[in-house]
Amino acid sequence: MESCLSVSEESNMIVAVRVRPLNALECTRGQVTNVVQVHGNSNELTVQAGSSADASAGVTHFFSYDQVYYSCDPERKNFACQAKVFEGTARPLIDTAFEGYNACLFAYGQTGSGKSYSMMGIEALDDAALDGGPPHDEAGIIPRFCHELFRRIEAVKSQQQLQVEVEVSYFEIYNEKIHDLLSVQHAAAATGESTPIQQQQQQQRPALKVREHPIFGPYVVDLSAHSVDSYSALRNWLAVGNSQRATASTAMNDKSSRSHSIFNIVLNLTDLSSDDGLSSDTDSSTASSLRQTRRSKISLVDLAGSERISVSGSNGERIREGVSINKSLLTLGKVIAALADSRKASANGPLGSGTPSTFVPYRESVLTWLLRENLGGNSKTVMLATISPASIHADETLATLRYACKAR
Ligand code: ADP
Repeated sequence: MESCLSVSEESNMIVAVRVRPLNALECTRGQVTNVVQVHGNSNELTVQAGSSADASAGVTHFFSYDQVYYSCDPERKNFACQAKVFEGTARPLIDTAFEGYNACLFAYGQTGSGKSYSMMGIEALDDAALDGGPPHDEAGIIPRFCHELFRRIEAVKSQQQLQVEVEVSYFEIYNEKIHDLLSVQHAAAATGESTPIQQQQQQQRPALKVREHPIFGPYVVDLSAHSVDSYSALRNWLAVGNSQRATASTAMNDKSSRSHSIFNIVLNLTDLSSDDGLSSDTDSSTASSLRQTRRSKISLVDLAGSERISVSGSNGERIREGVSINKSLLTLGKVIAALADSRKASANGPLGSGTPSTFVPYRESVLTWLLRENLGGNSKTVMLATISPASIHADETLATLRYACKAR
């Protein structure tokens, strides 16, 4: 049994696995079978590995995680729909954000295993959301999270004097380079207000750089950030970024499966009721500096496909891409393993010994460097590993499940 449960219920890292259904093509290929089983409502799953011609044929691998979502068969009692996956993985992060802590949820898995379906869902079915309507049944974690965030903001504002600011940014990391998906030009392109030449210039803009802010940590220089005051405004920006991502991907042979996309939401909550104790001669700048502001950054990340890129037959560009994807996913694995080690050491150490200083190699990739404030410290992280149940993908499925175990 390869057990991947968190060290304690209070752990800052939750590891969840989602199994997608066999797709239509796999179902029609007679020799493809479902090799992943989840037993009842448990958080354990088994993978039957190896084809009959293989030495490892018939070997059963057992795994256990914090959460397991079986999305293979709607007729089954333990079937996990989009709403169930959101409730278990992302909804608790809204509490985290309101408490003023950072959070991160990332989907990891081979291309075609259900990362985008889980994170974004089927966008074409979610048009009502653009008018502020609730997310469709097929909507994924990101639209559901944003909808729930604004529902909570309205609920809290009705009980408390609160100033709320929400800002969103959306970018892609491709070959270790950062590209803004929400720049003003993209917005113009999305509304048809820019010319094809302007759009082409946008595609060719230089990559953005990373710097470190003394308080808020690493950030992307000149990345556009947009204030939003409603779910429908936020949903519009999400649609702009997604269409930009899809356009760039079509132009470059499905680039989106080979790039990481990061959707950031910054929530600033200022408690206006703390003015009560201020005397009437307190000037307004002093009053605002005395007000309590809680700031939280939530990163929702759809990672590049984790499949090993075969070097044979690849051209120089593909090899470079493969190296960068491997570098960021390997570094992410090292970072979460180092954070897990540090948590274990502090949980097992003598009382009062504090958190031991384990070296965490954030700086080894752009992805981990930018997620530093969302992965370590008091922030909460959810890793959603997505897998295919198909026998033809058993090796990649095992690799994903083992990667997920590193976070333990
Ligand atoms: P990835 O982002 O990992 O490359 P996708 O999310 O694009 O994979 O999923 C590949 C295909 O499988 C898509 O057509 C998607 O709609 C479908 N799919 C993935 N996960 C599920 C699921 N849990 N239920 C139904 N369809 C799914």
